[in-house]
Amino acid sequence: MKILVFGSLNIDYVMSVEHIIIPGETQKIDHIQVFPGGKGLNQAAAIARAGFPVSMAGNVGAADGRLLLDMMAEYGVDASCVRTLSGFSGAAYIQVDPSGQNCILIASNANGMNMESGIEAVLSQFDVGDILLLQNEINLLDHIVCAGHQRGMRIFLNPSPFNERLQNVPLELIDGFIFNEVEGEQMTGERDADAILKAMHARYAKAELLLTLGAQGAVLLRGSEIIRQPAYQVKPLDTTAAGDTFTGFYLAETARGSAPQAALEIASKAAAIATTRPGAASSIPSLQEVMNEKLMISN
Ligand code: ADP
Repeated sequence: MKILVFGSLNIDYVMSVEHIIIPGETQKIDHIQVFPGGKGLNQAAAIARAGFPVSMAGNVGAADGRLLLDMMAEYGVDASCVRTLSGFSGAAYIQVDPSGQNCILIASNANGMNMESGIEAVLSQFDVGDILLLQNEINLLDHIVCAGHQRGMRIFLNPSPFNERLQNVPLELIDGFIFNEVEGEQMTGERDADAILKAMHARYAKAELLLTLGAQGAVLLRGSEIIRQPAYQVKPLDTTAAGDTFTGFYLAETARGSAPQAALEIASKAAAIATTRPGAASSIPSLQEVMNEKLMISN
C-alpha cells in the first residue's frame, strides 16, 4: 500500500514583531526566519518521520522551490510528483508578537496552479486501496477527490482551512475526515465534541471520523465503534503542526496495519512531543523518538 499526499507546499516567512503591524505603519525587524511549511508538506513530513514511505504531489516555484525540494530529500519524502513551475512557491507571511499572538497572510502562488491533466498523470501511478491524503490549500480539490475515488483510493481529508471552496468538493466520497474542534464547529455548527461527531456521522455515515481535541486528546468514530484517546502530559512550547503530526502518524500506522487504538496512541504521543518543540516540520519526532520517549497520559 502506498500513501500519496496531494497538497500545499509553502515557504513560511516568520517575523518577530514588537506588535502586529497597523494600517500605514512601517516597522523594522532584525531578521526573517524562513522555514518549509504548508499543511500538505507538513503532513507528508510526518508520515516520513513515522517511517512509512510517502509521495508528495503539488507544485513549487522555480524562483524559490529549492528549499522545499531539499527539505523533502532530507526527510525522505518522494518528490517525483512535485512539479516545478515558473514563478514562486506558496508563501505564508507570519507576524508573531511577544505574547505569541500571530497574524498570517498566505499567497497560493504555485499551490493554486494545479491542472486537470497533471492530476491524472499523478493519480495514474496509484492503485485501488492506496491512501490519498488531502487538505484544503490547493485548487481543483474537487477534481482530485473525484479522480482519486474513481481509482479506488482511500481518501482522507483534513478540511483545513475551512472555507466556501469546500462546498464544491463532493465530501460524500471522503473515506475519512481528520479535523480539529474549530473545523468541526465550522462544518456542523456544533461545539461539543460528541455533537460534532453525531452531526458529521448523520451527514457522512460511511466515513471514519477522527476529531482532535488539543490537550483533551482525540475521538475516533469508525463504523459503530467510538474510541477515545487521551492526550499525553507535556508542557507545550509551540503547538504548531501538532495536528499535522497526529494526522501523519495516524495514517502511517493505519497503512502499516496497526489497529486503530494503537495508531491513535502513537499519533497522540508523537503530537504531544511535537508541542514541546519549536517550529512546524522541525518539531515532528521520528518513530524511534516516539518509541523511546516515556510520557504519562493526561487525566
Ligand atoms: P491542531 O494542531 O490542528 O489545532 P489539535 O490542537 O487538536 O490540532 O492537536 C492535535 C493533537 O495534538 C491532539 O489530539 C493531541 O493528541 C495533541 N496535542 C495538542 N495539544 C496538546 C497538548 N497541549 N498536550 C498534549 N497533546 C496535545
